[in-house]
Amino acid sequence: MSTTVKAYAATAPDAPLVPTTIERRDVGAHDVRIDIKFAGICHSDIHTARSEWGPTNYPVVVGHEIAGVVAEVGSDVTKYAVGDRVGVGCMVGSCGECEYCLAGTEQFCVKGNIQTYAGIDKDGTPTHGGYSQAVVVNEDFVLGIPDGLDLDVAAPLLCAGITVYSPLHHWNAGPGKKVAVVGLGGLGHMAVKIAHALGAEVTVLSQSLKKQEDGLRLGADHYFATSDPSTFETLANSFDLIVNTVSAVVDLDAYLSLLRVDGTLVNVGAPEKPLSLHAFSLLMARRSFAGSPIGGIAETQQMLDFCAEHGLGAEIEVISADRINEAYERVLASDVRYRFVIDVSTL
Ligand SMILES: [Zn+2]
Ligand SMILES: [Zn+2]
Repeated sequence: MSTTVKAYAATAPDAPLVPTTIERRDVGAHDVRIDIKFAGICHSDIHTARSEWGPTNYPVVVGHEIAGVVAEVGSDVTKYAVGDRVGVGCMVGSCGECEYCLAGTEQFCVKGNIQTYAGIDKDGTPTHGGYSQAVVVNEDFVLGIPDGLDLDVAAPLLCAGITVYSPLHHWNAGPGKKVAVVGLGGLGHMAVKIAHALGAEVTVLSQSLKKQEDGLRLGADHYFATSDPSTFETLANSFDLIVNTVSAVVDLDAYLSLLRVDGTLVNVGAPEKPLSLHAFSLLMARRSFAGSPIGGIAETQQMLDFCAEHGLGAEIEVISADRINEAYERVLASDVRYRFVIDVSTL
């Protein structure tokens, strides 16, 4: 038995997304059924819909920035009740037994966590994400959205928010630390807000000064254009941490030269092509080049609570479902300030 819900699906790498219906499983003992209210559009959705990160099994319903309200709970559910405001991010399951799952870092599950979409669920069926009216998820992978956050601005926090919060938290961004954020897009604008709220001195490194006013309003202390070569001279050896949100190949050596001794450049953007760097860029100042994916469930909840406490939602443009394909083109053209969010009632 299952429930049929409306959704928007990708059916081929080069075809636009189209309205469809999908089946959601019955609510099991530990499951929560969520009526989805808003779903953010993440760049990963586009990569998956278009098979850019390897072949996708079609049809697929993407979306892993899900915010909604609990509509039904299973008999053994203890964490949530009907009517609760909740979210789902990039994972809907993991093995629960490995050292990383036991440590609350399910994103590193040795058996591989179950992705919210384009994954294989425990029952062997393909997972489908947030561009749909409802989703059924194990309560352990459901996040509570605090009252201080509206559901529409909370949705992008479930991927974009945690993707930048986790490295900022891990590498101790805070008072006395100089943090640079490369790229002021969906990820970058949240990195600026969160790093500022954590107490760090924040610099935006963007291609041009086009979004400077926004960057300063969102919490940046300084804003530099990377198209200006003097930027790299002015800022040499100055940052403790650089968070690179750009999903394109960049000159890593140039960015590494901006780090102080023991500084870290962490990539959260995922370019399709390999990156390269000179070892000298690292070893002369004991610098690190790192990567970071999303965060664990506990850290994601911590991020949501932090954002609510500091009044940090995403800057969004809410769209109806029939504008998803247009929104994809605008994301690719960097023509969004700063995240599209689908009003799921328009499905
Ligand atoms: Zn994402
Ligand atoms: Zn595991």
